[in-house]
Amino acid sequence: MQQTHFIGAHVSASGGIANAPLNAAAIGANAFALFTKNQRRWQAKELETEQIELFRQRCDEASIPMEAILPHDSYLINLGHPDNELLNKSRLAFIDEIKRCEQIGLSLLNFHPGSHLRKIPIDECLARISESINLALDCSSGVTAVIENTAGQGSNLGHSFEQLAQIIDGVEDKSRVGICIDTCHLFAAGYDIRTNETCNQTFDLFDKVVGNQYLKAMHLNDSKTPLNSRVDRHQSLGQGEIGQQAFASLMKLEVMQGIPLILETVQPEIWQEEINWLRFLAKQ
Ligand SMILES: [Zn+2]
Ligand SMILES: [Zn+2]
Repeated sequence: MQQTHFIGAHVSASGGIANAPLNAAAIGANAFALFTKNQRRWQAKELETEQIELFRQRCDEASIPMEAILPHDSYLINLGHPDNELLNKSRLAFIDEIKRCEQIGLSLLNFHPGSHLRKIPIDECLARISESINLALDCSSGVTAVIENTAGQGSNLGHSFEQLAQIIDGVEDKSRVGICIDTCHLFAAGYDIRTNETCNQTFDLFDKVVGNQYLKAMHLNDSKTPLNSRVDRHQSLGQGEIGQQAFASLMKLEVMQGIPLILETVQPEIWQEEINWLRFLAKQ
């Protein structure tokens, strides 16, 4: 059977990356996200060839294509850092992340754009982020840099479609840059998706301002906090301020097909149920 929707969750890779596809298969996923290294540390051991081979073999066995896998970079990285020394540190770590993806054979790398920490103007920070992406793309091949929209908490940039478009505008190789829309962040940043009408309006606006061709992945999360709260708190699907209808409307959008749709919801014990529900909605 041809799968048009790749649905999964951000699964654990503890004990080695080769455990991630097993954890994904166990919840009936045909997509997944993972960290390829400890997300709270700067340094990481090099990946072992055996782990990589086992990872690929297990993805194959679970019928999970490489394009349905969305690795996420370390939380420490700030590609728009106002301090030059710390910006460099982030850029080197990001280059290491993209090379790990290349080594594994993954085609995407998901990351949060960056923060100005109230020390440099927004435009300057966005330009730094674009340049960071350029440097990483120059040092690698075959991996697309996938910028995640943010809730706009604190000084985090990338919460508006205009800012995402501005970052892409500064990237030289447009064929290797894309966007991951996190529905919780989207809603917290002020974009309503609660009804069929508002959901369609929001995604029409995305197409107009950024362009659907750049949508490379989605994080499907409900939100504990209200519209425009600028606070990033995930909730299980249908149990938060976004509600069930949004996910029904989303699963009908053509742009949701063929890209990884990843749960980062707060109850891993119901991920399988949530995946089944999303599959059911896609068929309605
Ligand atoms: Zn996310
Ligand atoms: Zn989040």
